[in-house]
Amino acid sequence: MTSRSPALTVIVPAFNEEEVLPEFHRRLAAVMGGIGLAWDVLYVNDGSRDRTLEVMLALQAGDPHVAVLNLSRNFGKEIAMTAGLDHAQSSEAVVIIDADLQDPPEVIPRLVEAWRQGFDVVYAQRNTRAGETMLKRATAAMFYRLMQKVGGKVTIPPDTGDFRLMSRRAVDALLRLREQHRFMKGLFAWIGFPSTPVRYDRAPRAAGTTKWNYWKLWNFSLEGITSFTVAPLKIATYVGLLTAIGAVLYLAQLIFRTLAYGNPVAGYPSLLAVVLFLGGVQMMMLGVIGEYLGRIFNETKGRPLYLTERHLPSRLN
Ligand code: UDP
Ligand code: MG
Repeated sequence: MTSRSPALTVIVPAFNEEEVLPEFHRRLAAVMGGIGLAWDVLYVNDGSRDRTLEVMLALQAGDPHVAVLNLSRNFGKEIAMTAGLDHAQSSEAVVIIDADLQDPPEVIPRLVEAWRQGFDVVYAQRNTRAGETMLKRATAAMFYRLMQKVGGKVTIPPDTGDFRLMSRRAVDALLRLREQHRFMKGLFAWIGFPSTPVRYDRAPRAAGTTKWNYWKLWNFSLEGITSFTVAPLKIATYVGLLTAIGAVLYLAQLIFRTLAYGNPVAGYPSLLAVVLFLGGVQMMMLGVIGEYLGRIFNETKGRPLYLTERHLPSRLN
């Protein structure tokens, strides 16, 4: 038998997903069998602290379609996905999907369909956010609106996660972006190429818990903005300019009042208010600069994005 390289590789980053992985694989295999393409699935274990790796190895032993990539520790989903893309060098297209069954594998045939029509990027766009609170929805909506404003020429489609299909050339383009701070929504959008959405209903998590909380989401938004645009630095310039103009006007008013009415000098409270206000603004702007400086620092180290503990390819021959 000749060795066939897979036409389609499904990349599944997983962190502490021992509970859902068997069910995920069952559903994925059922769907992929009907697509009529040579396929394999690459499970990326992102330093899980439970038995995720063991579950993956068991799946690999029982199914020739399964490949396993074990990272040396937890690097985060963005890097786990990148590691997966790095290891899918021979496939014509790649699908990225979450392990927790929030992205239903049953949508994959529709992604493939659009790819066959000639689209390089087919992103799954969610209709509903089942199982998510009002607050989560509202903050997500705000985030997309903000990113649209600061994004400039690059448009990030709303209600779109990492669940998508990418053609070979789109993956190759994405892999040329090796920055440490990987805001994937931004990177996906940056590469361009003919793209189309496929709508689907996002399910609530099948088992386990999300690794997200509001503090993480806040940092994620900061990451998105600072790795995408230097608008905050420009805002700092204008805030400085406005405060300076305000100060000049206030000073003029003080001089006028003293000359015209001989008012005594205004007291301690107004002085303190102004000093504290300016101190606060300056610290905040230093923080903004610091955000960028920290990112420059991290990028200049030029470290590899991740380290691999083990890679077991699929046995597709
Ligand atoms: N994930 C990962 N590394 C991490 C955190 C998450 O590989 O450090 C994986 C996780 O196993 C899942 C996907 O990324 O397959 C999405 O994670 P999660 O469900 O926690 O995020 P949400 O769906 O809430 O956005
Ligand atoms: Mg999830």
